[in-house]
Amino acid sequence: MLEELKQSVYESNMALPRLGLVIFTWGNVSAIDRATGLVAIKPSGVEYDELTVDDIVLVDLDGNVVEGHLRPSSDTPTHLELYRGFPEIGGVVHTHSNYATAFAQACREIPAYGTTHADTFYGAIPCTRPLDDEEIRGAYEKNTGTVILETFSEKDEAAIPGVLVANHGVFTWGKSGKEAVHNAAILERVAEMAYRTEQLNSSIKPIGKAILNKHYLRKHGKGAYYGQK
Ligand SMILES: [Zn+2]
Repeated sequence: MLEELKQSVYESNMALPRLGLVIFTWGNVSAIDRATGLVAIKPSGVEYDELTVDDIVLVDLDGNVVEGHLRPSSDTPTHLELYRGFPEIGGVVHTHSNYATAFAQACREIPAYGTTHADTFYGAIPCTRPLDDEEIRGAYEKNTGTVILETFSEKDEAAIPGVLVANHGVFTWGKSGKEAVHNAAILERVAEMAYRTEQLNSSIKPIGKAILNKHYLRKHGKGAYYGQK
């Protein structure tokens, strides 16, 4: 079932260690087929060098395993919450990539300090509030998704395709698993740049509206003109 989706999710998962975004099993990618509402996701606790396409698990939006011989990622309820809350997205990535997770642990957003950031993220990449004790002891993984949706209640998830979860790590999304991986790599790179920017100039301010708009809007939206037709 959904062989193409499973193959693309397998390839997107394998891209995470190759891009230096995860070590061991510290990350996962999923993608959804909106026509059937089925989600392909990495199995829980399987090392990347042992992962095969046949290990990819198919679940429905309620988390029931529809196909697969392994348990799905323990982060599956977070992915499903994002698919339910962001109906336009097609792929979700979770990582504990180094610099971005440092910002998450510091409970800080990543300010837009330059055009590299503005080309993909239309403003600061937000950090969620920490989960409270009840949310942690309860449906922790689902609540992680809920707090992300809460963080985006007045933001556009298409314009800022990623978030830091306080105390934890990174989630990104996109039209596909592949695009979500692309956004996860850019998020990590701009986190590193932001960290170094602050080291070089501790009083630096985020870039102005004009340059933010110029760089984001020339690549995205109606008036986009970057790249080839
Ligand atoms: Zn995690």
